[in-house]
Amino acid sequence: MTVKQNAVVSIHYTVRDEDGVQLDSSEGRDPLVYLHGAHNIIPGLELALEGKKVGEQLQISIAPEEAYGEHLDHLVESVPLQAFGEQPVEVGMRFEAQTEQGPLSVVITAIDGEHVTVDGNHPLAGKPLSFDVTITDIRDASAEEVAHGHAHGPGGHHH
Ligand code: ZN
Repeated sequence: MTVKQNAVVSIHYTVRDEDGVQLDSSEGRDPLVYLHGAHNIIPGLELALEGKKVGEQLQISIAPEEAYGEHLDHLVESVPLQAFGEQPVEVGMRFEAQTEQGPLSVVITAIDGEHVTVDGNHPLAGKPLSFDVTITDIRDASAEEVAHGHAHGPGGHHH
């Protein structure tokens, strides 16, 4: 069978940035298992896998808008240091901020005196990515997996 809507697909992958620096890889781990067509993975990768078969190896270059999105300036904010109260503050610290759109994972990118810069962009936002992917398994999703919008079992959700 081929990769299509409501197939559960297992892939091994390595992802690099535009300078060839490896960002993540499933090598040495279990493959990534996802439900195709349910937006479990980035759009550019899902699109490239459509119609492919087990054993196929792909090299895929993905623009930011088809990966983790463009870097959005409005998600970068300066907040007063005192807003953190007694909490120790350092660059690279990650925490959940409460926003009008709900909780957002942000990272502290700079501290300048009384001003702390926080960035709510995904760490890979604005970056073109290059994937090496091998498809290791394809199966039909169960009705429950389709209803939940994700894969169950090994490599998938456990609940
Ligand atoms: Zn589920």
